[in-house]
Amino acid sequence: MSKEITARSQDYAKWYNDLVLKGGLADYSAVRGCMVIKPYGFALWENMRDVLDRKFKETGHQNAYFPLFIPKSFLSKEAEHVDGFAKECAVVTHHRLMNDPNGGGVVVDPEAKLEEELIVRPTSETIIWNTYRDWIKSHRDLPLLINQWANVVRWEMRTRLFLRTAEFLWQEGHTAHATAEEAIAETVQMLDVYADFAENFMAVPVVKGVKSPSERFAGAVDTYCIEALMQDGKALQAGTSHFLGQNFAKAFDVKFSNKENKLEYVWATSWGVSTRLIGALIMAHSDDEGLVLPPKIAPLQVVIVPIYKGEEQKAALDARVQVIMDELKKAGIRVKYDDNDNARPGWKFAEYELQGVPVRIALGARDLENNVAEVARRDKKTKESLSLDNLSGQIIDLLDDIQTSMFNKAKEFQQASITKADTFEEFQAILDGKAGFVAAHWDGTAETEEKIKELTKATIRCIPLNNPQEEGKCILTGKPSKERVLFARAY
Ligand code: AMP
Repeated sequence: MSKEITARSQDYAKWYNDLVLKGGLADYSAVRGCMVIKPYGFALWENMRDVLDRKFKETGHQNAYFPLFIPKSFLSKEAEHVDGFAKECAVVTHHRLMNDPNGGGVVVDPEAKLEEELIVRPTSETIIWNTYRDWIKSHRDLPLLINQWANVVRWEMRTRLFLRTAEFLWQEGHTAHATAEEAIAETVQMLDVYADFAENFMAVPVVKGVKSPSERFAGAVDTYCIEALMQDGKALQAGTSHFLGQNFAKAFDVKFSNKENKLEYVWATSWGVSTRLIGALIMAHSDDEGLVLPPKIAPLQVVIVPIYKGEEQKAALDARVQVIMDELKKAGIRVKYDDNDNARPGWKFAEYELQGVPVRIALGARDLENNVAEVARRDKKTKESLSLDNLSGQIIDLLDDIQTSMFNKAKEFQQASITKADTFEEFQAILDGKAGFVAAHWDGTAETEEKIKELTKATIRCIPLNNPQEEGKCILTGKPSKERVLFARAY
């Protein structure tokens, strides 16, 4: 077999790369840290995007588009924001190339230096808030609920396909509100939208929480997040929703006249998920045979493979498959009939397993005589013989069952991977063993958080929402603490 996949137990990182590359999701590119998303990977992203886009619109948001370039002076207007992003900015300095008069090929034309350098957006708060100044005058203009689907560039030094790339695709919501309460409610609402999407569409359970101050988005008052757990026990930040207070309104002088005709600064939020979610999906569910995709967002949900000898058998199968396909398509199922006769059924089975297609139907001439089909589910790798009577109804139920059982399996794993530690030794032992989330007391200081990170590589993933209050002692300093926070090593 040409498409050998490294086993998870052998080399988890290589297993992941094998799935991305050999599963046909993405390729490395000529540009360091940037990837090519291939049609199969892009179809997955489109399905995720469509569901999220619908949810954003259902919660009152509209899409718009802002420029790729940000004047350097804009980025510097909010002090913490520029500090946070300065290290990873791509900067445009010139606007023209020329032939080197000394024969050195094409070079930058020194005459074409930009008066003000431009930053390729790492995020769009600044250019958007510069625009909102003109859009927002009165309380009647609020709330302003905008989302944009775009690419952004963060010059990351250590990149990994989908999980952390220098250019990535995402959506960024940017909203403006009359009061802090409304903005906080929006922040929490969008966090719930993300959590619902992760759990009920991606079948990936998440913990909702708030970041510690040092993990906060640059320029935010509070960063809410959803944290997912990968099969190797590492955590992944799967989405963030920020309450920005009035920081950007003040930096860009965005005021509105309230009902009493007094001028006030506007309150802001921003929230985003990226193509990183594809990495989360792969690492949460897949196995040593390849991808395992949840039916609700799998590009292809069902594949039908005919098994036959000779034209006559093929024609009989074609006719029957046509009926099954029509029924499935009518029910909104994404189905393909793979009757390519250049590949043997066994090869096709392995290929669709690698691609993570949730259901495979194999139909042979004898099956037709017996009025049955062999139906295999990708998640559990079990096969059963189903009657051809109402096959589509049975397949729809099966897809539902796969979606639910993928979530339940991941949820059980997540629950079994949240462990309490009361001493630093326990803490370290858990991280070096099964890892996962470690619930531990922390004295609330950035110094202790940093020290724990240095010693163990674990960071505070979040302070869970509705966290039970419990008196305890910090695992490092022994100082008093009122609640446990979730630590983990993370991607
Ligand atoms: P942020 O604007 O930093 O809150 O990030 C918004 C979303 O993008 C979060 O869900 C992050 O997990 C994700 N993200 C941040 N950096 C990257 C990256 N380099 N590649 C892919 N996704 C990213």
